[in-house]
Amino acid sequence: MRAIILKEPGQFDFIEQEDIKAEKGKAIVKIKRIGICGTDYHAFKGDQPFFTYPRVLGHELGGEIVSISENGIKHSLKIGDKVAIEPYLNCGACQACDAGHINCCENIQVIGVHSDGGMAEYISIPINKIHKSERLSFDQLALVETLGIGLHAVNRANVKSGEKVLIIGAGPIGLGVAQFSKLKGATVCMADISKSRLDFIEKIGLSDKSIQVTGKLEEADLKNVLDGDLPSVVIDATGNKNSMLNTFNLLAHGGRLVFVGLFQGDVTFFDPNFHKRELTLLASRNCLPGDFKEIISLIEEGVIDTNPWLSHRTSFEDMPNKFETFLEPGQEVIKAIIEL
Ligand SMILES: [Zn+2]
Ligand SMILES: [Zn+2]
Repeated sequence: MRAIILKEPGQFDFIEQEDIKAEKGKAIVKIKRIGICGTDYHAFKGDQPFFTYPRVLGHELGGEIVSISENGIKHSLKIGDKVAIEPYLNCGACQACDAGHINCCENIQVIGVHSDGGMAEYISIPINKIHKSERLSFDQLALVETLGIGLHAVNRANVKSGEKVLIIGAGPIGLGVAQFSKLKGATVCMADISKSRLDFIEKIGLSDKSIQVTGKLEEADLKNVLDGDLPSVVIDATGNKNSMLNTFNLLAHGGRLVFVGLFQGDVTFFDPNFHKRELTLLASRNCLPGDFKEIISLIEEGVIDTNPWLSHRTSFEDMPNKFETFLEPGQEVIKAIIEL
């Protein structure tokens, strides 16, 4: 079978791999769509922390089951099912797994990151990591994981109806966070450096207010657009150190702060500022199996419109040529999808 391997930063190659053999408890999925995300761009540029080469990327996957190797575990999958793949392989034996926090398993292996992923014709995947839908298109199935990151972050913040939520970073993760904050009934204020991104998100109805960030975001900027209030929830989806350190100054007293983006370094804050506001700081990592199920139903019911997400696409054959163009800011890529 063919796969595309990232040999080293900046260099994709097609390779011929041995055909996948059936393994008990796993299904073989024929890959139909692969979403490209920030992690892939960082791996390509060579600045993704703890990343090793060569690696087959691809963790946002939509495909079709071609074989199932039973191991006695009950499931409702069958050959021909259209499926989304949950790419977080957890160990099932650590303290986090025992407690149900399988999204942050101590020994987590994310396919396409820690082990080879789905930028290939086929992938073998544990049956319990496969989520089917009779109604979603392959494009939509490949978007479920990205949306899951947003849903998990919003669940971490426990966003409630009527709350004012500030989302910093209007990339795909921020867009997902906005989607689910709106569904919870929050007033969403989006902040980003890109005016066109802010306009786009407001136009599709996923934000109520926008702030174009030119320097450091100040309390006054927020009070201006939030009728004199500060947000009770701030979700940072930038992964930018300066942005993240500044968020401690932007919250209402009693507020919750979620870091969905991350950077390599120390998060520091002035404790009296943290205490006087009685802030809650939360990290958000990956998402849970229930998030996959919920998102699939929301798309099936037409509650989530996936059209705005699908901004760019390429064939599998063309991917190595096209990949770099998706990094150009002028392209305004929301989500690029590879088609097989
Ligand atoms: Zn991703
Ligand atoms: Zn574990």
